[in-house]
This record gives sequence, C-alpha cells and structure tokens, in this order.
Amino acid sequence: MKQPRVLKLYNSLSGKKEIFNPITPGYVGMYVCGPTVYSDVHLGNCRTFTSFDVIYRYLLHLGYRVRYVRNITDVGHLTDDGEDRMAKGAKVAQIEPMEVAQRYAVGFHDMMRIFNNLAPSIEPRATGHIPEQIEMVQDILERGYGYERNGSVYFNVIKFSQDHPGVYGQLSGRVIDELMAESRDNLKNQDEKNHPADFAIWMKARPQDLMVWKSPWSTGFPGWHLECSAMSTKYLGKTFDIHGGGNDLKFPHHENEVAQSNGACGCSPANYWLHTNMLLLNGKKMSKSDGNTINPPQLFSGDSEHISKAYSPMAVRFFMLQAHYRSTLDITDDGLQAAEKGFKKLMDTYALLQKLPVDARDFDGSESEHDRAILALIEDAYEGMDDDFNTAIAIAALNELGGYVNKLTHGQIPHNDVAPWVIERLKSVFSTFLFDIFGLREEAAREDNGTVDNLMNLILELRANARAQKDWTSSDKIRDALAAAGIQVKDGKEGVSWEKV
Ligand code: AMP
Ligand code: ZN
Repeated sequence: MKQPRVLKLYNSLSGKKEIFNPITPGYVGMYVCGPTVYSDVHLGNCRTFTSFDVIYRYLLHLGYRVRYVRNITDVGHLTDDGEDRMAKGAKVAQIEPMEVAQRYAVGFHDMMRIFNNLAPSIEPRATGHIPEQIEMVQDILERGYGYERNGSVYFNVIKFSQDHPGVYGQLSGRVIDELMAESRDNLKNQDEKNHPADFAIWMKARPQDLMVWKSPWSTGFPGWHLECSAMSTKYLGKTFDIHGGGNDLKFPHHENEVAQSNGACGCSPANYWLHTNMLLLNGKKMSKSDGNTINPPQLFSGDSEHISKAYSPMAVRFFMLQAHYRSTLDITDDGLQAAEKGFKKLMDTYALLQKLPVDARDFDGSESEHDRAILALIEDAYEGMDDDFNTAIAIAALNELGGYVNKLTHGQIPHNDVAPWVIERLKSVFSTFLFDIFGLREEAAREDNGTVDNLMNLILELRANARAQKDWTSSDKIRDALAAAGIQVKDGKEGVSWEKV
C-alpha cells in the first residue's frame, strides 16, 4: 500500500461527497452494471465504462486490491412492450438469443480494448446465474417482501417501504406516488400486482418467450434488476464498497437493487453509489430516431454528418476525460478537435520530458522556487483525482507542468534550478498519469512516426534528385501522388518539409 491519500467520493445515496473508507482496509469491491448485449455498444455506454475504468485504475494506483465486477446482461432486460431484448434481436435476425448475446458481447469487448479499458476482474453473465437468482427470490419470499401470482413473483414495494421508511426512493429521490406509473414492467401483468410500484423478480414465461428456466413458481425468467443483486452478492458479498452505473439506471434498476438486497437479507448492497452523467451530441440527448446520434466506428472513420474528420480512439478518450464523470458531456466537432490538440500537446510534453537530463549540474541541494511550484502542481493533479476522480482538474495540472517542461527544454529555466529528484518525479508522475491512471496510449501513428519519417525522407530525396536533374515529370508525379495520399510537400527557405492535410 502506498502513502494513504484521503479519497472523496460523491455518494448518490447521501447526495454528498464522503471520505472513502473501504469495508476491509486495503481492499475494494466494486460492481458496475454492464451492457445489455442486444445491439452494438454506443458511445454513451463507452463514456460510462471509460469513467469507471479510470476510477478502477486510480484505486489500483493508490495500492488497493480491487475486485471489479462488471456483468453482462443477456436475459431479463425487457423492452417497454414487455419483450426480452435478446429474444427480440434473435427473432429479427432469425438466430438463437445466445448468438445475439455472443455477437454483441464480442463487439463490446473489442470496443473496450479500442478505448483501452482494462478488463474487469470478473464479468458474470445473468444467464450463468439463474440458481443464485432463484435463491434470492426465495429469500425475499421467506422474509415476506414478495408474493406469487400465477407463477410470477413480485417484490412488495409497499410492505418494504412500511418496514424500511425512507429507503425506497432514497437513491433516485422519488416518492412512492411518483413511482406508481413508472415501473419498467408496468405494461405487463399489471393486474397481477398488488400495487403499480411493485416489480417482477420472477416472470412466468409466455409461449413466445425463448429464454426460460424451471423454478419453484413456474418455467420463466428472472426480473432484470435481480441479476445485479444476485451476482454482486455472490462475488462481492452482501454489502460491498462501490456500486456504479449511468445515472439513467438510478431508477428503477438501482432503486430496486437496494430494495431486493434489503428484502433478501436486511442489508444495503453498497456503501457508495457512483453515477456517471449522460453523453449528449451537439447539446441534445443522443437519439437514433431523430438522427442525433454517432457511434464509435463513425467517429474513428469520420463518416458522419456531425463531424468534419476522423478522430482516433485516444483523442476521444482524452475528450471524455476532460470532463468530470458527473457532468454531462457534449460531443461536438469543435470539442473533439480541441481534445485532439490537447492530447497531442500532452504526448509531446511527455516526449520532451523523456529527453530532459536528470543530472543537473551544480545542484546545491536546496529547494528552489521552481521545485516548489512543480511539486505543488503534482499535488494538484493528485488532489484533483482524490476529489471524486476529477480528471479535468488533473489534466489542467499536467498542462501547467507541461509549461515547465517546455521552459526547461528550451533553457528558459536553467536545469540546475530544478533538483534532479524533482525532474525524476516529474517524469514518473507524467507517465503514471497518462498511461496508468488516464489509460491513454501512444497512438499507432505516433509510434509509427519513425518509419513514416524514414520513408518520407527517402521519397523527398528521390524528388530532390529528380529536380536536380530537371526531371520535372518525375518530381511532379511524386508531389501529386503524395498530395493524393493527403501529404503536402512544401518547398521553403529552410528546405523541403511535409505535413499531413
Ligand atoms: P445499457 O446497455 O443500456 O444497460 O447501458 C450500459 C451502461 O451505459 C449503463 O451504465 C448506462 O447507464 C450507461 N449509458 C447508457 N446511455 C448512456 C449515455 N447516453 N451516456 C452515458 N452513459 C450511458
Ligand atoms: Zn445492474
């Protein structure tokens, strides 16, 4: 364990920032609701999972042993008209529901790798945990918080609320009356429920349902909210440290998880509830129906009316990190361009930093004004992360540090004005933040730069030879071919240069 730092998290349950105290010192259990694998992962999902990836990375950096559980929902998540999302996808494509789940789970993993998100420690699937879910329904029934109707089992929200005043609704800030009409399965079997706010924890299958299992009540399938309660309990215990997801899941999903755990064992599932904010496009909610949407492949290829060019996955990741995870994030072409530049600037600073000599000459051992300023900025970066994982503040501190790196590189600050150990620390902090905590990667194009530079030198030399021999046909051919490949050659006073346009 490294030097303990005081980490503060914004807990949606209390509506306050709280000091993070894990249940077992040095260990963290974190559960994040994963994707429902019935369609391609969208950029909003990527934002949420990238936010939790940075949280995971920072906890690891602080020296915690983290068990990060992120599930895959492959059954039970119904559409508004009561059909299972997986089964609906399977019917459309005329394949097995499990083929739908597999196709999109593979796509999801590919996208997580493209964004450089670390794999969770455990990635359980709902369909692999049906016995655990059935057991939880039994526990809820035994404790009197569920009732069976025609083979389906419902959670009794009213009784639960009477016995646990203030618990149901605390997370989402809603009151029971408001919840009456809003339950996700409110179109289905409404008449079977005692109260509209009650929700299904086991559903009896209808003839058209494809994914069904035997249970003591009927052949059917578990309610969507139950999988996360059952799987978090199995892998993290009845009460664990952090539960996360997008803020659209606060109600009903997370509210119902709290009720289920309390109903099954009388305990709150998580001590800290963290919620990410939504991704917008040009100031409006992303929506497929009105065309206000962009998916990751479109961003990477530039093939969308909303953007003027292609953006690399790391530029998009950096764009996401420039905002705090609890703020909405508005995707705009201007914002992406600025992020691309900002990302390149930090990577350039990192490259300069590698070349900075550590062995300062004539260092007299005292702490200079520059030493103090650099150390204070490093502390600012850490304090940003300690303050509810505020990546925006940490990035601002790194940018300021970049100013020092430039000045040291160009001699505006003499090397012997900064202690060798401060330069060492600067180097290690930069690489720790960029690669370990922010999870950025040097872009392939940059890594390839050596090869591309060498090839370009060769081509430009051939062109110079052609020009020297007044072979204008060859030199023009080289220039035109480069232009067609998006490379502009400039003949200036200082010689020939080139750039990608
Ligand atoms: P889903 O596959 O729809 O269950 O969503 C997976 C995760 O992505 C959940 O944590 C959602 O809250 C989150 N999510 C969905 N839409 C967005 C969005 N537009 N912006 C940020 N996160 C989102
Ligand atoms: Zn969940």
